[in-house]
Amino acid sequence: MPKDNQQPHLNTKGKEQHTYDAIVIGSGISGGWAAKELCEKGLKTLVLERGKDVVHLKDYPTATIPNWEFPHRLQHTQKDKVESPVVARCYAYSEATEHFFVKDNDHPYVQEKPFDWIRGYQVGGKSLLWARQTQRWSKYDFEGPARDGFAIDWPIRYKDLEPWYAHVEDFAGISGNRDGLDTLPDGDYLPAWEMNCVEKDIAQKIMGHYKDRHVVQGRCAHLTKPRAIHLEQGRQQCQARTLCERGCPFGGYFSSNASTLPWAAKTGNLTLRPHSVVHSVIYDEKLGKASGVRVIDTLTGESTEYFAKIIFVNAACLNTNLILLNSTSSRFQNGLGNDNGLLGKFIAFHNYRGTVSAAYDGPDDKYYYGRRPTQPMMPNFRNVHQQETDFLRGYMVFFGADRNRGMVDEIGKPLKEAMTEAGEWGISMMMQGETIPKESNHVSLSKTLKDTWGIPQLSISVDYDENDVKSMKDFLMVGSEMLEKAGCKNIQQHDSQQAPGLDIHEMGGVRMGHDSKTSLLDPWNALHHCKNVFVTDGASMVSTSTQNPSLTFMAITARAANHAVEELKKGNL
Ligand SMILES: Cc1cc2nc3c(=O)[nH]c(=O)nc-3n(C[C@H](O)[C@H](O)[C@H](O)COP(=O)(O)OP(=O)(O)OC[C@H]3O[C@@H](n4cnc5c(N)ncnc54)[C@H](O)[C@@H]3O)c2cc1C
Repeated sequence: MPKDNQQPHLNTKGKEQHTYDAIVIGSGISGGWAAKELCEKGLKTLVLERGKDVVHLKDYPTATIPNWEFPHRLQHTQKDKVESPVVARCYAYSEATEHFFVKDNDHPYVQEKPFDWIRGYQVGGKSLLWARQTQRWSKYDFEGPARDGFAIDWPIRYKDLEPWYAHVEDFAGISGNRDGLDTLPDGDYLPAWEMNCVEKDIAQKIMGHYKDRHVVQGRCAHLTKPRAIHLEQGRQQCQARTLCERGCPFGGYFSSNASTLPWAAKTGNLTLRPHSVVHSVIYDEKLGKASGVRVIDTLTGESTEYFAKIIFVNAACLNTNLILLNSTSSRFQNGLGNDNGLLGKFIAFHNYRGTVSAAYDGPDDKYYYGRRPTQPMMPNFRNVHQQETDFLRGYMVFFGADRNRGMVDEIGKPLKEAMTEAGEWGISMMMQGETIPKESNHVSLSKTLKDTWGIPQLSISVDYDENDVKSMKDFLMVGSEMLEKAGCKNIQQHDSQQAPGLDIHEMGGVRMGHDSKTSLLDPWNALHHCKNVFVTDGASMVSTSTQNPSLTFMAITARAANHAVEELKKGNL
């Protein structure tokens, strides 16, 4: 086991048998896409994954267990709080899903400021756990930094990604309506989930009152009506069980495990190596490019090198930053491609602090049937066409209406009887706010602390700023006002004050850009100074938009992978 990150003990046997056309680091949402595209184009591709293998269908141990059969009925235990104090804060963490989250104590990091780093280390990464909301970003998102003068200009625009959004949506299967909004571009969707009667009512009232605000049904990566391409993947119609985070035996939602990785494997070009922590990328000074990666086997502690012509780094935003910072050489003493010293800086995330809840009178004779993996949403309506508030950018809004179970202050029979009746309608609304990337929000390598494999721990210094607080206050006010206009009562505002990270949408640190003085990656996601290394996960983002990010990571990855193959064919890499 190496204790010195510069000099791991190496097993260099059989260079040839360790050589591939491409290496992909990480098998989550973005790594899965890189693997699929590269394998389909005929490249022998090695996917290195630090966690255990999770085979679709076989390794979903809790997928069909009813809630009442779990020892603690899914409640957290003292043990959870001790072993996993951070990940246990994630709403999706329970005894039904804990095996897809890391144990925090096994994977320490330094919180210079409170940061909830939610990680899933296994084949499939967080694609097993995600909530699958998949809106495209709009032209306003890509134009935002240039218009408002923050971060740097995106080197691409919506039009550059549009065909790649279509490409990944087609394969993943996204449900939704075509709503015709320029703030929320449409795709070719599978049928949308329905809003319930109160949601429809509220939507109509909000849109009737505010001409610039739109309520639409959420778009999500669920097969409401599978097409041939989905059946070919072995996936079936979503059964609306909403037990998704346990792994879906129907393949009803998109995950790397159900979709991209088996597809890549079918080509015969994929080698998947679980239990393989990538320590660093190897830079070859003579060739002036990367030649491979150093890997530590987590079961044996043995270090090995693997070689390839191109390397995709898809370890998820912060681990991607860590790997590049740890990839030092005499040419790159501060991390691979880091001539401008900006690697690890301009980290941003989504502001989830604000929520508003309310009650709604009637209709008492109406209910809804079945479960649903999405909910109504409002694309951002703040500062869209011009700057109009005292904070930059905006937020999108999710909301939902449901009927509480009738509850009484008793136990036993009266409680059981009351629970058979539907109670009042309740509304809950939450913001998903854009945060402004700043140099001061950064990650770096600890100079003293290392992990089990001798790799420096990541030190995280990321926080909210005044802009985020103003944006949240605006949402609390505006959200309350919209619910009031929609006829809601007992409106309550709440600031969760949760630490950054719990949104699980971290982005930046290895941003794209035109200029190598102010960015790390070129417009095709290759490092400016090491052209055969591509970063296509959240680390590459220039800004965060207000929309969920993973669909954009997929589209950017597919675009970059296809470009890399073309460049390889031309002999440019
Ligand atoms: C509960 C939850 C809900 C979410 N909801 C949504 C949502 O609705 N919409 C949305 O867009 N996003 C959502 N997300 C976020 C989404 O999961 C991530 O954006 C997405 O998974 C990122 O993809 P990725 O490939 O970058 O990372 P991951 O999917 O996390 O994959 C990274 C992989 O790299 C591996 N790895 C890390 N370091 C190394 C190393 N050194 N060597 C080898 N392998 C390594 C990891 O083990 C992991 O398997 C949610 C996340 C969670 C947890």
